[in-house]
Amino acid sequence: MSIEVVNITKTYKNFTALKDVSLHIPEGELVALLGPSGSGKTTLLRLIAGLEQPDQGSILFNGEDNTNRDVRERQVGFVFQHYALFRHMNIFDNIAFGLTVRSRKTRPGKAEIREKVHSLLKLVQLDGLAHRYPSQLSGGQRQRVALARALAVEPKFLLLDEPFGALDTKVRQELRRWLRQLHEKLGLTILFVTHDQEEAMELADQVVVMNEGRVEQVGSPEVIYNHPANPFVYSFLGRVNLFRGRIRDGKVQLGEAEFETEWTHKAGEWPAIGYMRPHDVELSLTPVEGQSVMAEVRHVSLLGPIVRLDLKRLDTQEMFEAELTRQRYAELDVEEKSIVYVTLRNLSFYVESQTPAAPKPTFVPIHIGS
Ligand code: ADP
Ligand code: MG
Repeated sequence: MSIEVVNITKTYKNFTALKDVSLHIPEGELVALLGPSGSGKTTLLRLIAGLEQPDQGSILFNGEDNTNRDVRERQVGFVFQHYALFRHMNIFDNIAFGLTVRSRKTRPGKAEIREKVHSLLKLVQLDGLAHRYPSQLSGGQRQRVALARALAVEPKFLLLDEPFGALDTKVRQELRRWLRQLHEKLGLTILFVTHDQEEAMELADQVVVMNEGRVEQVGSPEVIYNHPANPFVYSFLGRVNLFRGRIRDGKVQLGEAEFETEWTHKAGEWPAIGYMRPHDVELSLTPVEGQSVMAEVRHVSLLGPIVRLDLKRLDTQEMFEAELTRQRYAELDVEEKSIVYVTLRNLSFYVESQTPAAPKPTFVPIHIGS
């Protein structure tokens, strides 16, 4: 089932949690809602589920307006961060719950329920544990039971709100892989909330990046990571260095380095910030004409497979980081206080463009090097 969110606004008293949010979730996709705490992810999920009503806008399932439908009519599967299993019921009864509370007319027979619960236990790889109680399971197992319970009622789609958020890193990684496989097997539309960018990148077909009640960018993990639409998305997706410089008549200037760009729409000179990932920083012992800035190595950290250098740009005194492979680090043969040259490649600038037609500033990315 596809989900369409159209121009949704939601306020609590005088606080606007969602501002004119629109979103299309195609049938069968696994979509991640990614954003910092308080960006409105849970609110959006609750609106889609029918647990909240929007102030404005509408929600369509397969093109059909569901905005005013009751939560029960929407047939949504919901799993929250904190496992809401019934402690006094064993695993079998927890999973069967949504079926056993149905009215007699729509309730499946006992044998049918038993068969269904056992096939779900198999699906979430917990067969044999039907008679245990939630307290006798690990955190990861409990979340798999919560998923099986949500699936028992054959929902049209699944909404997962940081379902692995309370678990430790190793279990999270296992469950991610498992959820990915489950999605492939079932082909169900899944909307998955997380504040962990790695989780979103690893799991999702599409990532929706949210910030302060707005959608900042929607795209595949590849697009979001390699072509962030604005400084927020760039910074949220990983470590970042900022290089202060100027843009003048379409030329970017950073210290001694100067680059032509195709962006010549704004005349004059103004400050600009270049964004660069630490693993994209290229260091050498000799400068590359017109493309390097000089820096001093301030600290070296050996981090397993990579080496991180803390560097200080000598013209502006700005600190930045480089991540090198161990091999590259050995080749360079630098230590604290060594002088190196940074080749400015893989740099993104964002030029704010504000037009009367679009009163919110939008960003035009300028990319240098490849
Ligand atoms: P997220 O899930 O991304 O962390 P939420 O959707 O839970 O964010 O919350 C978004 C914002 O709305 C937060 O600032 C939160 O404090 C506020 N908010 C959420 N629910 C309520 C509520 N019932 N009453 C008042 N404010 C709320
Ligand atoms: Mg939340």
